[in-house]
Amino acid sequence: MSELRQSPEAPPRFTPELAQAALAEIRVYDSLRQEKVEFTPRDTGHVTMYFCGPTVYNYIHLGNARPFVISLVAKRFFESLGWGVTLVENITDIDDRIIAKGNQEGRSWKDVAEEFSDAYVEDTQKLGLGRPDIEPRATEHIPEILELIGRLVEREHAYAAGGDVYFDVSSFGGYGKLSKQQTGEMRSGVRIAPDEDKQDPLDFAVWKGAKPDEPSWDSPWGPGRPGWHIECSAMSLKYLGAGFDIHGGGRDLIFPHHENEVAQSEAALGETFVRFWAHNGMLLTQEEKMSKSLGNIFLLRNALEEYEPDVLILYFMSSHYRSPMEFSREVLDEARQQVERLRNQFRTLGDYQGPDGPADASGKARSADDSPAVSETPGPADEAILTSLAQHQAAFVQEMADDLNTAGALGEVFALTRKVNSALASRALGQTAAEKVRNALAELLYVLGLEAVTRVEFQLPAEIIRMAEDRQRRRAERDFAEADRLRAAITEQGYEVRDVPGGFKLVPLV
Ligand SMILES: [Zn+2]
Repeated sequence: MSELRQSPEAPPRFTPELAQAALAEIRVYDSLRQEKVEFTPRDTGHVTMYFCGPTVYNYIHLGNARPFVISLVAKRFFESLGWGVTLVENITDIDDRIIAKGNQEGRSWKDVAEEFSDAYVEDTQKLGLGRPDIEPRATEHIPEILELIGRLVEREHAYAAGGDVYFDVSSFGGYGKLSKQQTGEMRSGVRIAPDEDKQDPLDFAVWKGAKPDEPSWDSPWGPGRPGWHIECSAMSLKYLGAGFDIHGGGRDLIFPHHENEVAQSEAALGETFVRFWAHNGMLLTQEEKMSKSLGNIFLLRNALEEYEPDVLILYFMSSHYRSPMEFSREVLDEARQQVERLRNQFRTLGDYQGPDGPADASGKARSADDSPAVSETPGPADEAILTSLAQHQAAFVQEMADDLNTAGALGEVFALTRKVNSALASRALGQTAAEKVRNALAELLYVLGLEAVTRVEFQLPAEIIRMAEDRQRRRAERDFAEADRLRAAITEQGYEVRDVPGGFKLVPLV
């Protein structure tokens, strides 16, 4: 029997058979080719990924949390197959909006950037998914950015004008290939702003000349600060090198951000920048609905006060990452019910004592002096459930291999738990088989970032058990007033007492 492995330090690995099957059919949708294509990493056995992180001028919202969650789940999936992964996710800590916020509030841009990068790390940390391997900040990579700009100027893909440096879009033949636009059409819709010295309305600043009261760094083209696009090219290339595997981010970043990243990176490199472009769908909210019934739970920080991290993660996992997602209180409440269902499944499996065990194991079996004995008696459903387990495990891995279809993978988990539940209810499962199912489910849920629902090895406090027993006795004596008082007292301690045939069941309130 494999040991239950659930900490991020010891992530589960699929068996070689499962991993082999998945490795042979991993497909990723590439936004550039606009189709699902076979995926193999550039470096044998090691995946390199870069995701665009937040611009830190405010708390992040759930729309920003989605790519964060997806990137870490993708990392877990690749690792579960035995691959290494380097995930880089940047923090944009210099930007017009950061400077504007500082000016508005009469404090320095640095102060704003520090406050909200700390808040971003703090909030995303609470999700419990671990962190990207490298989280570079733009202001800590000025030399790399200047070097990249230097290369562009030298190759005549960029030019200095009026203190700024612009990328010359006409010098790069492939401009528009990611967002599927023709430069002619794009040009008709844009004008050069009065304060810009660029030659073509499509040209974009890679270096912005210093303005009064704005932060600046020295450069060969005069003091200034980096443009947003150049930062991601410089940092991804520094940590992952040319032609790294997956560049991700929200769909809204395709143009102009990623289009500009491709242009400047490939112009500087003379070769492919990224092998696969992965873009996640947006969260759909109705402005009006948000202000009324959602309040401010659109901010990750506030959502985490109302919902457990697992609820938010399960919400994200319940849709394919490329699909737009409805965001409402109703869908989060639905996710909460599903988390509770999974948690109950683990409690039931943890309490289960085989076909010969007591009909209700949840109540008294957990008191300290009454630890359950392991029953080796096999159950009549063992073979069928273990066959189902193998089928659902294989299907889970296939769904994940198919462009990270977490919704399909989650569906396999629920399909399996339904079968297991009915076998447990009829006490048709042996304890050893139940253990196997439990460990396998824990591994699948770990990959989806939901391992916390599997941690239910708590002990019910003896006092709570005593109160529940007392209440049961009072009910038998028809002293309902005292029984109700005890029920309320138990609730106040954070537990719900449920009457079940032959006894009671205590469920922690969440
Ligand atoms: Zn970026």
